[in-house]
Amino acid sequence: MSRAPNCEVTIIGAGPYGLSAAAYLRAARVEIRVFGEPMSFWENQMPAGMCLRSNWLASHIAAPSQMLTLDEYCRENGNHVPRPIPLERFVDYGHWYQKRAVPNLEKCPVRSVGIDPCGFKVILENGEEFTSRRVIVAAGISNFATKPAEFDAIPSALASHSSKHNDLRKFKGQNVVVIGAGQSALESAALLKEAGIQVEVIGRQKAINWVGLHPRMHHLGIISKMLYSTRDVGPAGISRLVASPTLFGALPRKLQDRTAYRAIRPAGAGWLQPRVKDVSITLGRKVVSATATASQLRLRLDDGTERLVDHALLATGFRVDISRYSFLSEPLLEQVQTANGYPVLKRGLESSIPGLHFLGKPAAWSFGPLLGFVSGAEFASNELVRSISGKQKLTR
Ligand SMILES: Cc1cc2nc3c(=O)[nH]c(=O)nc-3n(C[C@H](O)[C@H](O)[C@H](O)COP(=O)(O)OP(=O)(O)OC[C@H]3O[C@@H](n4cnc5c(N)ncnc54)[C@H](O)[C@@H]3O)c2cc1C
Repeated sequence: MSRAPNCEVTIIGAGPYGLSAAAYLRAARVEIRVFGEPMSFWENQMPAGMCLRSNWLASHIAAPSQMLTLDEYCRENGNHVPRPIPLERFVDYGHWYQKRAVPNLEKCPVRSVGIDPCGFKVILENGEEFTSRRVIVAAGISNFATKPAEFDAIPSALASHSSKHNDLRKFKGQNVVVIGAGQSALESAALLKEAGIQVEVIGRQKAINWVGLHPRMHHLGIISKMLYSTRDVGPAGISRLVASPTLFGALPRKLQDRTAYRAIRPAGAGWLQPRVKDVSITLGRKVVSATATASQLRLRLDDGTERLVDHALLATGFRVDISRYSFLSEPLLEQVQTANGYPVLKRGLESSIPGLHFLGKPAAWSFGPLLGFVSGAEFASNELVRSISGKQKLTR
């Protein structure tokens, strides 16, 4: 018989998903250890001055009994949070949530997770080693930043992914091109322009998709309720489907893929429109080559035109590939069934290795695009509790 593990459940990550999972499991009296810098991705890898695209109701970090909502945060602190929600206020809300729900959070990063006869062997950056019956990976998307191959050989001083910056004012005095035409690209361009920095946006799509241009659609009583879920992911109708992850995951794969793309295709929030009206935006164009000169970057587009810029900011998104979670050991990764880099998950967001769960965007292959957003944490946490509490013995 294998010995008992040192710990029941280890949670890796202290963003909205890790914190929410910890709050629910604690309330269900499951013994947990939680690791990570609270809200670090939001604090360090998004630009200061940014606002959330998701609306108020979709930005609560789920907790049992709705005790830790944004409304509660405002009430307790006697303050007002404007809408759209400013990034720094959301980060502060996350820290407030962590102190109340997960006071025993350990900030030390996890260095490695491997398979062990009694579950998993976890090694921390500080050298501590222990065994855990279950591991919940809620480590976010920062490892998955993706950029076009044309920029592979360009030094980061001349071209960098948007998630590498938390203060765009560092580009003061430079001439910047933003690649992409989604929320991150458009909002970065607005922030650069507002800081007096010369900027051009270059995107492949032929037109910008704006969302939220018709707010009255959300105030039509029962009709709005039928069309839109409060989870706020996707357009009318699709929003409702995406809000039921178990149903979504049961659809034929082709339909899932089409619907997921329609729900989260690159788009800008309507409130950004006036802020980018004076930004030069080139659409329907692709960068075909990028060459570093002595101190600048020469870009050639597919219409034959060129740009000589000081920096290219690549707002080109994230592609899930769990092998890029460097803390997952090779032998463990070999046993996780994957599809397109995503782990294939069953109920409880459990992978093909019993006791190994994935939350957040990596769960989107199995449960749809909701899992890439804060508003998917309630589903994820409830699934975990249902599958873990009262069933702590695993069969391998
Ligand atoms: C520019 C931008 C804007 C966005 N705006 C919105 C929005 O308005 N609304 C919305 O719902 N979503 C938005 N998103 C998506 C957002 O990233 C996710 O909703 C959210 O971060 C998911 O939370 P998470 O807990 O999965 O990951 P994260 O918030 O990324 O948290 C990951 C956690 O894992 C920890 N971690 C990582 N590796 C380790 C390790 N080895 N050991 C210990 N801890 C580790 C980190 O420290 C961190 O605490 C946006 C994304 C971007 C890029």
